[in-house]
Amino acid sequence: MAATSPSQMITDLHRPGAASDVFASSEIHSRATKPSFARFRQTIGLPEVSEVDVTRHFTRLSHESHGVDNGPYPLGSCTMKYNPKRNDVLARLPGFENAHPLQDTNTLGGVWEMYERLQTMVCEITGMDACCLAPAAGAHGELAGLLVIRAHFARLNNRRPIVIVPDSAHGTNPASAAMAGFDCRIVPSDMKGRVDLVALKSMLTPDVAAFMLTNPSTLGLFENQIVEIADAVHANGSLLYYDGANLNALMGIVRPGDMGFDVVHVNVHKTFSTPHGGGGPGAGPVAVKAALAAYLPSPVVSRLGGVAQPDANRPLSIGKMKSFHGHVGVLLRAYGYLRTMGGAGLRQASTHAVLNANYLQHQLSHMLPPVYSQFCKHETLLSGEKLNTSARQFAKRLIDYGMHPPTLVGAGCVYFPGDLKSAMLIEPTETETKASLDYQVGIYQKVFDEDTHNEALVESAPISRKIARIDLKN
Ligand SMILES: *Cc1c(COP(=O)(O)O)cnc(C)c1O
Repeated sequence: MAATSPSQMITDLHRPGAASDVFASSEIHSRATKPSFARFRQTIGLPEVSEVDVTRHFTRLSHESHGVDNGPYPLGSCTMKYNPKRNDVLARLPGFENAHPLQDTNTLGGVWEMYERLQTMVCEITGMDACCLAPAAGAHGELAGLLVIRAHFARLNNRRPIVIVPDSAHGTNPASAAMAGFDCRIVPSDMKGRVDLVALKSMLTPDVAAFMLTNPSTLGLFENQIVEIADAVHANGSLLYYDGANLNALMGIVRPGDMGFDVVHVNVHKTFSTPHGGGGPGAGPVAVKAALAAYLPSPVVSRLGGVAQPDANRPLSIGKMKSFHGHVGVLLRAYGYLRTMGGAGLRQASTHAVLNANYLQHQLSHMLPPVYSQFCKHETLLSGEKLNTSARQFAKRLIDYGMHPPTLVGAGCVYFPGDLKSAMLIEPTETETKASLDYQVGIYQKVFDEDTHNEALVESAPISRKIARIDLKN
């Protein structure tokens, strides 16, 4: 029989009644009744293997991926931190797991109760007054927050088309500003890595809607002029946006709302557990001061007559940012994490995150001196200037010793301010013990010695992995 052409197969498939012909047939397995597109025209040569061999094969493959369960993962700015396994059990409680997005919202009482409590906790931790949990990630929270800001100025008939971000900002900040319809302007960092206040003040014109800031910054530094920054921004009639990706350096110690921020997003998959390998899933709750609460996306859950339920009466809301109600399972993990930690636990997590980063910064400084020589917050930017190879090669060699490479900074990598040629951003996280940190320092020392005595080896790393280098030039 002549091979059926792909277009003929598609036509067969779309013929009215094709599907019911196939599936209604009691002889569905009989070759004679199968439509041509469903028949094998040649054997495809799959190996005949036993189930146990298949299982072993995929288990072996899974061990070839690096994760926080099999080694250190000091990926600055986006770390895999404390993701308790118990939260996965929580997220699988049948009442939550079996809830259907299309079911009547009146029957989702447990979800709304959890949302209302989590909203309250996010407000308390960030110093805000109202919160919407629905955005799907940090970047999505940024977009939601900026749309809230736009709605606020639109209602005041005060056209402000500009948003300012620092040059050290995560790339999502300018991208979100553009998506929300703003023109983005970049304010430089000063010699100490912080926002250049003089430059910022000169950029604060009446058409500036907001200044977006990450504090501590992606350089691991606290913006210690934050009160002055907030005053200048507010004196200009503009709003201050807090990118909460680095909240795990501050939680329980200081609140963005008390620093003068008007809008925040929280990356719950970075700060409040939830593993997010491979880029998802996550959630990016957005929280605001009272004056902006009316514009928050929906749902916002309120307690009406003692019962938590989505507030249906929010005519100024920017509307929905996410289908249905947001990522319930992710938010449930965040809720479980916060209930487990409590206020004192959160404060301790932040304290340990900062202590661990400063310990590593100190122990590594003779090999990888900090770019800004001062105490850091939860992450530290270390320079590769003493290396014969580069921070990039150094990081690749770490892979051979079972460590995930830190975030690379410099030429050809993440963009960072100034003329940084080669640096890495290390975030040890609060969960690594001193013994683990000392073990890591030992690995850095080994690679540093190799960099001194056996440059070629470091240049060729990683050599122990099944896939060594896809692009030999990099
Ligand atoms: C990770 C990160 C973001 C983006 O968050 P996603 O949840 O990945 O969308 C924004 N800003 C900073 C500083 C970040 O580290």
